[in-house]
Amino acid sequence: MHEVADNVKRIRQTIRDTALSVGADPDSILLLAAAKTQTSEAIVAAISAGVDAVGENRVQEMTEKLSQGAYSGVPLHFIGHLQSNKINKVVGVCDLIESVGSAETLTAIGKRAQTLNIIQDVLLEVNIGREQQKSGIAPEQTEELLHIASMTPSISVLGLMAIPPFGLSPSDNRRYFDEMFNLFVDIRAKKYDNVSVRLLSLGMSDSYVEAIKAGSNLVRIGSALFGQR
Ligand SMILES: *Cc1c(COP(=O)(O)O)cnc(C)c1O
Repeated sequence: MHEVADNVKRIRQTIRDTALSVGADPDSILLLAAAKTQTSEAIVAAISAGVDAVGENRVQEMTEKLSQGAYSGVPLHFIGHLQSNKINKVVGVCDLIESVGSAETLTAIGKRAQTLNIIQDVLLEVNIGREQQKSGIAPEQTEELLHIASMTPSISVLGLMAIPPFGLSPSDNRRYFDEMFNLFVDIRAKKYDNVSVRLLSLGMSDSYVEAIKAGSNLVRIGSALFGQR
């Protein structure tokens, strides 16, 4: 597990250098370990090495590792596609649900959170590449979901998340990240109840440098941290 610690250190340094190169505060950028398929031991090693959060994609996998104590000490984010029949296993369990990709999901999360008498933090996932097969809202739907959130006291929207199309060049990635940053700035300037926009979750192993240059403050890193899956 020394390797994971070395990777965290190296990625942190890259985050720091990149942030400084564009005049951003390196300490404001959160490093999330994307832990799908990883063992609890590897996750614990990443947490010991100082990642800020852990993200999981699959509810079943998360529930198993949770029972093994894999996430102790850091916030747990849900970053995968959230099926409606799994919502009860995520709301109130995850500190942040990053992948709210429809009005229906947002409403269902709100209902469950109300039943639990909690406020669930969420991000809205934007399908920035407008890919048919991918979940997430279209950019122009963002206001509609913020409006729903504004009427749902059991939900707190903290920002936006996106996954650009797979396999793009750095400059094409950058174009999508810039679009997301513009959307982030737009909605941050508006005032809605239950909305406190501060997180922009963009960037994975092959794109986090571009994402930070574009204004991301939450990068989700899997293979560069744990090795190839
Ligand atoms: C797997 C995954 C990541 C990390 O991907 P890597 O390319 O391995 O860094 C980030 N975000 C989401 C939503 C993922 O599913």
